[in-house]
Amino acid sequence: MQTSAAIYLRVSLDHEMDGRTIDRHRQDCQRIARERGWTIHREYVDQSISATDKAKTRPGYDAMVADYQAGKFSAIICWDLDRLTRQPRQLEDWIEAAEDRGLVLVTANGEADLSTDGGRLFARMKAAVARSEVERKGRRQSSAQAQRARQGRAPKGIRPLGYALNGDILEDEAKAVQEVYAAFLAGSSLRGIARALSGEDGENVPADVPATETQTRRLALERNQRRAEENKTRGPADQLAMKPVPEPKPWNPASVLMLLRNPRYAGYSTYTPKETDDEGKKRRSYKAKIVRTEDGEPVYGLWEPIIDENTWWKVQEKLDSAERVSNRSGTERKHMGSGLYLCGICGTKVRAHGQRYRCAGHVLRSREQVDTYVLTAVRARLGRDDLADLLPDRDEPRLAEIRTLIEKQEARIRRAQRDYDDEIIEGRDLKRIRSKAEAVITKLDAERLTLSVSDTAGGVLSDQNPVSAFEAGDLGIRRSVVDALCEVHLHHNPKGRRDFRPETVEIVWRR
Ligand SMILES: [Zn+2]
Repeated sequence: MQTSAAIYLRVSLDHEMDGRTIDRHRQDCQRIARERGWTIHREYVDQSISATDKAKTRPGYDAMVADYQAGKFSAIICWDLDRLTRQPRQLEDWIEAAEDRGLVLVTANGEADLSTDGGRLFARMKAAVARSEVERKGRRQSSAQAQRARQGRAPKGIRPLGYALNGDILEDEAKAVQEVYAAFLAGSSLRGIARALSGEDGENVPADVPATETQTRRLALERNQRRAEENKTRGPADQLAMKPVPEPKPWNPASVLMLLRNPRYAGYSTYTPKETDDEGKKRRSYKAKIVRTEDGEPVYGLWEPIIDENTWWKVQEKLDSAERVSNRSGTERKHMGSGLYLCGICGTKVRAHGQRYRCAGHVLRSREQVDTYVLTAVRARLGRDDLADLLPDRDEPRLAEIRTLIEKQEARIRRAQRDYDDEIIEGRDLKRIRSKAEAVITKLDAERLTLSVSDTAGGVLSDQNPVSAFEAGDLGIRRSVVDALCEVHLHHNPKGRRDFRPETVEIVWRR
């Protein structure tokens, strides 16, 4: 009698990968059937479902088991054992079927043939190894916190400003959070907001942001209060020790930044894995903390948002732009043009050198002369009635579109990573998908930053009176305004000429 065989395929959800991988696997399996003279009873296909998670259903697999039990075929061809199952229990069932009922199971990569002792031993070893790998991965990835996050529950024992431990909104704190977001969008600097939260006032300190205890100190006080409560019901021997409470400390820009970056305020469930990335860095952007479904949709937390989604994303874009500017122009500079102006000969950034800007061997220019000239030109530019026309418009629909497109690419990367973990795709496929998606993201990011340029530079460019906002800004703000508006190229000043010649400082306006 002719052998009737089932082909079992498991494939990725990634459309592009489907085309490549599934065809390759299918052809390999069909070739085996042809070589052995088998007829193909049916193809069973499951999509991108991990073979290790018992909770997940695999309709194709289940149908195949049922059909086998009904005696509809006597051989299974799969691409490799990992695709069939990684659960030792299920594998044992197939080995038993092979031993007792003559099931022939072959893999396209030829590594396991359950009709031989060696093949069965190999299969069992492989399943055991796969199992322990899965368990290791499980410990890494599916901690209780990750599980909670996927269900939209708040991380245990952590409460950001504005929320109680049970996720309820604390009105006073929530109000402070909202004022911080509003002040930032209105153009206040992180430093100014930090000063307002610390109870200071003065120039550049937003008046609407209320004085607020720092979170570290507040949490320490609350913890001791809870312990004091519990100690009332404990015997003297079981008393919980009070922990030291840190001295009151002023807010700093970094803690304001963390507040502005926290996705929980917009209602997104978050999770921060402990492991490091490929390069061994603990790089977790605020966006990567947002928990997403298989389709890349954000998972919403079970708590009420304090900040609406659009506002939150607007703040992220503004922060991204500001970070880009300060990365490019350097942080905490003492001089207007160091690390910002460019050498007119080689194009690298000049450095301050005593009273001058220098690119070694190329240019050496008086700082004062150059700065005066650049600041005058920038003020004139800021004073123009058509300044707004000189800047790219903030195109909200396009920005929203860009955000969606970026999310799609990020979802692709995550899906590929998962498929790689499940051994559905090869390392080179993962690499290809990732670099392709990253290239698209970089391009979209650049467009996004250009469209939101009017938000950068500490709100100066969108101010009613840009010139006075510029005057009032600190050095960092002035540097970012210059950077947002133009490129400054310093050319060589001919020897022996001490007078300033404007044509040696070339200002190239952006756009
Ligand atoms: Zn140079």
